[in-house]
This record gives sequence, C-alpha cells and structure tokens, in this order.
Amino acid sequence: MEKIQDALQKLRIAIGRFMLGRNGMDQLNYALLWGYLFVCVVRAVVVAVTRSLIVGRVFDVLLDVVIVAILFRVLSRNLPRRQAENMRFLDWWQRTRRITDGAIKRHKDKAHKYYTCRQCGTLCRVPAGKGNIIITCPKCGAKIQAKT
Ligand SMILES: [Zn+2]
Repeated sequence: MEKIQDALQKLRIAIGRFMLGRNGMDQLNYALLWGYLFVCVVRAVVVAVTRSLIVGRVFDVLLDVVIVAILFRVLSRNLPRRQAENMRFLDWWQRTRRITDGAIKRHKDKAHKYYTCRQCGTLCRVPAGKGNIIITCPKCGAKIQAKT
C-alpha cells in the first residue's frame, strides 16, 4: 500500500515538474473539452440517423483536431499567447451569455415590447398593449414606429 502511495507521489511530482512553465488546463481548454464531448454525442446521433461512414469520418477528423488543439494548449510554453487566447475566449463567452440572458428575459417579459433602434442599435423597451405608437430613441432621438 505504501509503495503504491509512494509511486503515486513520485508520479505527481514528475508530472508537476513536466508541467512547470506550461499552460496546463485553462477555461478555454475546459470549454474545448466540453465541446469535444458534445461533438461526440452529436456524432453518435448523426451517424445513427444517417448510417453514413463518411459523416462519421468527418466528425472523427473534427474530434482529432480538437484533441490536438487541447494537447497543444496544455503543453504550450508560450504562456502570453495562450493567456491572450483564454482572455479572448472569456470575453466572447461573457458577451454571448449576456446576449442569451437578455433574450430569455425579453421573451419572458410579456408586459413590454422591445425594439432595436435602426439608427444606433439601442434596445428600447415600451409597455405592451398600447396599440400603434411612435417611440423616440432615448440615445439618438430617432423615431421608431411600433405596434404594441
Ligand atoms: Zn437610436
């Protein structure tokens, strides 16, 4: 028992030494890993439905690319580059979450209607059920004709 623990400890130290100065797992790599698992499921479903070997091969190539990308990023010693990639990913992820959260909220909100200003892209919220109204964009003052 002690020997196994000793061996595991040595292995842990060896891995730690090997990973020293390397990127390791960051949020982007975890996301890629989840993407990998997701594509695995999609592949299984699509192959089961289409029964096409070629489609399966295409998915396999995609999965290989993702695994190589993860390994490359985990073992990479170019930390500034990898950290910049990770930051870009986190930025994108937060933006995407804000957009989807907003869309879900707007969908649930039956008391208001939402219009995007064509001139400046500002989202304007107006109460629902007022008939045909003209909205003045609070940001740029453009008029939007709306049916509520
Ligand atoms: Zn506007």
